[in-house]
Parts: sequence; C-alpha cells; structure tokens
Amino acid sequence: MKIVLREFTQLELEDLVRDLGYEPYRARQIFRWIYEKNIDSIDMMSDIPQELRSRLKEKVYIGHLDIIQRLQSQDGTEKFLLSLEDGEKVESVLIPEDKRLTLCISTQAGCAMGCTFCFTAKGGLTRNLKTWEITGQYLEVQKVTGRRITNIVFMGMGEPLANYKNVVKAIGILTHPAGPRIGSRKITLSTSGLIPGIIKLGQSGFNINLAISLNATTDMERNLLMPVNRKYPLSQLIHTLKNYPLPPGRRISIEYVMIKDINSSINDAHRLARLLKGIRCKINLIPFNPFPGTAYRAPTEKHIHQFQEIVANHGYSVFIRKSRGADIMA
Ligand code: SF4
Repeated sequence: MKIVLREFTQLELEDLVRDLGYEPYRARQIFRWIYEKNIDSIDMMSDIPQELRSRLKEKVYIGHLDIIQRLQSQDGTEKFLLSLEDGEKVESVLIPEDKRLTLCISTQAGCAMGCTFCFTAKGGLTRNLKTWEITGQYLEVQKVTGRRITNIVFMGMGEPLANYKNVVKAIGILTHPAGPRIGSRKITLSTSGLIPGIIKLGQSGFNINLAISLNATTDMERNLLMPVNRKYPLSQLIHTLKNYPLPPGRRISIEYVMIKDINSSINDAHRLARLLKGIRCKINLIPFNPFPGTAYRAPTEKHIHQFQEIVANHGYSVFIRKSRGADIMA
C-alpha cells in the first residue's frame, strides 16, 4: 500500500530517498516542493531526476484533503469543511486580523473531552487525525485562498494533547526551516488541561505558545463545565502552570468562556485573580457563543466589563475577545 508523502518529516524523507539510492539532499528538495510550492503531484518536482520521481510514485502519493464547503462570515472570517480520505470531516477557520492571517486547525475528528459549553463535544470522538491531516488543513486552505497563513492555532475540533504524537510531529513540520517556516511564537496550542501532555509539551523544546481553556474558578464549577477536571483538578493544573518552562517574554493565555450564572460572578472574578497569582499569563474573556440546543447564555456586556475590571485591578492583562464568525457557527 502506498504511503502519504505529507506524512514524512524531512529526516524520514532522507531515509526514504537513501533507501531508493539517492543523496539525502534530495529530501530537502522534495520537502520544499511539498511545503513551499504546495504542489499536487510528484510529476511537478522538476528538479528531481525522472527516475527518482518514478520510484517515489511506486511507494508514495502526496495526500490531499478535499475542501467540500467554504463559508464566509460578514466579519471576514472563513470556515472550511474538509473531507478526509475515509469520509470523516473536520473544520478549519481562517481569521484575518490586521497583518495576521490565523488558521485555527483541528487535531481530532470530534472530541472526547465532553465540555458542556462546546458544540463539537456533542458528537463525541471519532478518531485522531494523522500528522498529514493536520498539516494538510494548512496546505489546502493556503492553496485555495492564495494567501500566506502567518499564524496557527490548535483550537479547532479536538483536544490536541490527546493526539500528542501526531500534533507534535505536525508542529515539527510546520516550523521546519525547509518547510512552512512558521515561527514557534506564531503557533498556539490550546488545551482543556491534560496535565501529562502539558508537561511533555514544555519539555519538547518547541517553545510554542500555550493556551489553557480554564473557564472556572472552583472544582465544582469546572467539573460541571469540563469533565477533564475530575481527573486533573484545578489545584494540579495551576501547580503545573506555575512550573511550566515559559521562554522569556512569553505568557500563558488563559481562556475563560463567560457563561451567565455559571462562572461569571463577582466572586469568580476575585477567585480567578487569586488562582492565577504567580503565573505569567494574560487572560482572554470569551462571551459564550450560543448554539442550537444549549441552555447556556452569555452574561450582559456590562457584567463582562465589570468582571474584566475586577481581574485587571489585580494587575493582570485582561482582554474581551470578540466572537468571530458567529453567523457561520465558526
Ligand atoms: Fe470542545 Fe475543546 Fe472541550 Fe473538545 S476540548 S469538548 S473541542 S472545548
């Protein structure tokens, strides 16, 4: 059975071309064709000897995801629905913002984490995405839009740290100097709080940005919103964040989805500030974006600003994130 070429790291490609009797520098050329030129077929690799191209075609194919739907929001956000080879579907969201063009990509088909404020959680997990299905979202969206994606956020469908091996391999490819060359500062991984994965990511040396979907200030609240908290309670999560090896000048992003009457009281604001003491972080307040079938609502704007002010008065940078692409359920 043929293997997908986009699944290979540059080192793995070197082994492949060596096995075929060619110099390892050919791997760098092939890598460039895939990630810089974003080509569709091995025949387009014009500086690769014809014989090597034929040998490659016997063993591998490039690998392709189909964009089956493209929806544009009034605010410029675009949502892409991509079909995988086995018919599973995942979403990517492209968010233009000043000079940045950020792609929010999925790491799993569905998600097993069961967060009660999340629409993806409703369908459960189907499977982990392979590395090339993760990087493929970047390649396909870049190709179809013709625009250079500057930032990547792992905040789409799925819990990235539950698919650690494939996600970290994808990060290695996305940041590779012969590949897409996306700087580690421009990649953010958001997790619901899988502590062993957070520790491993800190030790991985990739130095990408870490975002924590926190959303509560007590175990009781968090257990209700995020079942992961029963396994990895708040005290352990906070301890892990305090010990996270942050590169100089970086901060952890704390994501806090604000839900009326659940996690947004004045007491929550004070507790949040106390909880995060000693963690270099910035806080993003995200008004809850209702979806069909949920009873949750966002607090009023006035209430959200009041919450922001209380936390900011404790010395934190606190931002209220505008909901993007609400009209296309992005
Ligand atoms: Fe949704 Fe993310 Fe929670 Fe999964 S981890 S259920 S995708 S919010």
